[in-house]
Amino acid sequence: MNSPSPFATLSWSADGQPFSEQFDDVYFSSESGLDEARHVFLLHNQLAQRWAALPEGGHFCIGETGFGTGRSFLAAWQLWDQCAPASAFLHFVSCEKYPLSACDLKRAQRLWPELQPWAETLEAQYTDLAPGWQQFVLAQGRVTLTLLVGDMLDTLPHLDARVDAWFLDGFAPAKNPAMWQPALYQQMARLSQPGTTVATFTSVGEVRRGLIAAGFDMHRVPGHRHKRHMLAGSLQRSGSTPWAAPWYARPQPAQGERTAIIIGAGLAGCCSAYALARRGWQVTVIERHPAAAQEASGNPQGILYCKLSPHQTPLSRFIQSSYAYSLRLLHEVLPRDGEHWEPCGVLQLGANGKESARLQKLAAAGYPQRFLHGVDAQQASEIAGVAIDHSGLFFPEGGWVNPPALCQALLRHPAITLKTHSEALDLAYQAGQWQALDADGRLLTQAHVAVICSAADSQKFVQTKHLPLKAIRGQITHLPATEHSAQLRSVICAEGYISPARQGEHHLGASFRFDRDDTQPSAEENHSNLALLDSLSPALAHALQREQLNPATLKARAAMRCTTPDYLPLVGPLVDAASFQRAYAVLGKDASKQPSTDSPWLPGLFINAAHGSRGLISCPLSGELIAALVTGEALPLPSDLFQAVHPSRFLLRQLIRGQLTP
Ligand code: SAM
Repeated sequence: MNSPSPFATLSWSADGQPFSEQFDDVYFSSESGLDEARHVFLLHNQLAQRWAALPEGGHFCIGETGFGTGRSFLAAWQLWDQCAPASAFLHFVSCEKYPLSACDLKRAQRLWPELQPWAETLEAQYTDLAPGWQQFVLAQGRVTLTLLVGDMLDTLPHLDARVDAWFLDGFAPAKNPAMWQPALYQQMARLSQPGTTVATFTSVGEVRRGLIAAGFDMHRVPGHRHKRHMLAGSLQRSGSTPWAAPWYARPQPAQGERTAIIIGAGLAGCCSAYALARRGWQVTVIERHPAAAQEASGNPQGILYCKLSPHQTPLSRFIQSSYAYSLRLLHEVLPRDGEHWEPCGVLQLGANGKESARLQKLAAAGYPQRFLHGVDAQQASEIAGVAIDHSGLFFPEGGWVNPPALCQALLRHPAITLKTHSEALDLAYQAGQWQALDADGRLLTQAHVAVICSAADSQKFVQTKHLPLKAIRGQITHLPATEHSAQLRSVICAEGYISPARQGEHHLGASFRFDRDDTQPSAEENHSNLALLDSLSPALAHALQREQLNPATLKARAAMRCTTPDYLPLVGPLVDAASFQRAYAVLGKDASKQPSTDSPWLPGLFINAAHGSRGLISCPLSGELIAALVTGEALPLPSDLFQAVHPSRFLLRQLIRGQLTP
């Protein structure tokens, strides 16, 4: 699943219209593609009326089969801007097996001059897409686009969403029979509720019958211009749904006042706060230190280090999607100026045989060049600006970030209040609100939703003490740049990493220590970091006058990272552990049982923690995941990845292994 997917192969007609070589079909009719999209999808889903009637802060979700050139998306977004209340949110979820390259997308979107403002906003974020689900936040968060890259018959079963209107597109049934299948209509019905509408350009009888069999009431209505008919309808009855694991079902979305407390102003907390604030929530971030980003998120240079496995493991797929989302967020909120962040590219070197083999497999896996590509030692040296002895991978869009700057930029959202010098040690649920209490039991603040984002300290609450969080100390070493070392142009990673100079210093890291829980810098870890430098680039070590560097006097910074036994983060809703154990005790005897008792959610309580040393990559999308769970929106990740990061997974595993006794 999610192995790299090829781009759309297009040819262009004399009048500039795109044609799909893969499907041997046109993307849309040449003379009136845009009007046709408006007629079929906007008019016959009654979007103008439905959007005008949305309440303040309302949500609307469109599902589309086949993103293609983004024509229908842009037309919908334009109409949204005209009709929907300014405080409402549009989520557009679209499937695409063969995404257009950024260049082709731009060329196609030039066909509709009146959509230019919307097209340019999308194009500013759209690069050649890597596989996995891709989240785009547009128009200051008023519009979210989630692209499910892959075959829709594979991706839709993993979508967790409540769709209000379907754009049933895709090439003509005769040209693309594999798509127009009952399995697709059943997925559409699963993701719909009574009243969800559907419109499609085709009037083929088999499609109509298939949709009717899935529960939609479908009618033939006049098509656009010379097309006599098309189909439009709505879901009448939800079909029977097969058993689904209740421990991974979603808690009821929050109702009423939209207020949230975030505990911890590191990357996880700031990203969660921002994701909620952009959805119209009033957020209070509680921080025990005098400022944000004082612990593991406080290093001067964090690396956008996208460490993938060629085996497409859940961790690797999670990283792939979240890395791309982090880059989009960074471009949006931080100036790239050598101070806040720098997308200077990241080289990953194969310093030993096993690592080289892993990187070679990834280089041959068909990723877009803009995402990653293989390099030999010579090419690596040219990219880095210093001599490199190993081949590896280059991630041209990666680089380094000053994490405190990112946290501060996110906290500047006007709906976020940062409350410093405040340590929440207790959480009490009173009259539908979570109260954060300090060491003396004094109320710090209260809100309808609370998200715990305090790394390994997240475990300190009564509600979270069952979570298997581990703290790992990490130290980075500051190295004064020399005239020669300042030539380093990209980040270099192998066992460790070194960054190009920022404010006259490189940063070299990092140690991993389970045996110390203090944050005093140590000469010993400076020493081991310097050994990493030798393996990264002896030439750079020489340029940094490595022989003269004294581990005992080098500046350093140590902090505690937080991780879990499976190295995936913990992101999602929390349960009452004792009730969970009782509700699903039967799994301890027979793991194949299918209990249907609802999971004992702690209403409105979530966690976003355990991002290890890759918080820059995993926190932004995790914040989106938390916000989507809170508000009841479509999830930005496939359900199997949501389950892979779900906070209840460890309780469940312990139950199944008989490690928990009621
Ligand atoms: N809605 C598009 C627009 O506004 O430009 C036009 C869609 S085009 C006619 C059909 C799209 O469906 C193509 O981009 C094609 O790659 C995609 N597609 C076809 N079969 C698919 C499948 N099984 N899974 C995902 N995408 C598919």
